[in-house]
Amino acid sequence: MTEAGAGLNRRTFLEGVLAATALAAVPRALRAMPNNISPSTALQRLMEGNARYVRNQIDVKDFSAGRAARAQAQYPIAAILSCADSRVAPEFIFDRDPGELFVCRVAGNYMNVDILASLEYGVEVLGAPLIMVLGHTNCGAVKAVLQYEKDRKPLPGHLQMLLDAVSPGVVEAMRQGPTDQLDHAIEANVRHNAQRIRQAHPVIAKAVVEKRLDVVSAVYELATGEVRLLK
Ligand SMILES: [Zn+2]
Repeated sequence: MTEAGAGLNRRTFLEGVLAATALAAVPRALRAMPNNISPSTALQRLMEGNARYVRNQIDVKDFSAGRAARAQAQYPIAAILSCADSRVAPEFIFDRDPGELFVCRVAGNYMNVDILASLEYGVEVLGAPLIMVLGHTNCGAVKAVLQYEKDRKPLPGHLQMLLDAVSPGVVEAMRQGPTDQLDHAIEANVRHNAQRIRQAHPVIAKAVVEKRLDVVSAVYELATGEVRLLK
């Protein structure tokens, strides 16, 4: 092996060790990582990727090219909490490569302790500067909550747990009773969970206060492919 090759191997190994073990202890300014970017830059990259996806002009992907580097470490630019709906595929929607998005998915895109633990890992250990809660139009989980609030008909198996988890974000929207109730409830559910994540102590809330993390709300439009940021 050449001297240069040995140096490269040593560096790759050290990067892997850092990512796997002691990354949280390394001062952020010293991390020369691809995701050492501001929350606004991360959001801009997502939205630019979405614009390419909407135009059907996604970047050419060479999945084998980065495989060796990815085997050593991951540097996601954002953590996404999305619905499990098969039509919502974050890597496609934002035109990102493997290793760029840390995706947590559950029907109804709500936060529970398991999801929160994953998001904390994405932020604190992997250094993601952005969390996006991503709902979508025509969401079956939110629809089911609206239906349940009307007829109180229990659902089989564990589905009732899903309803109970999504309900808090939807009930407020129902009280207001707008004509486009489903869309309104979908947005309310996203905002509700983004707010819960933003205030989640000790890890996420601290990162938000220190401005190294932002938590944003968005809705994916099934019909157009567009991701709409919520104010
Ligand atoms: Zn859904």
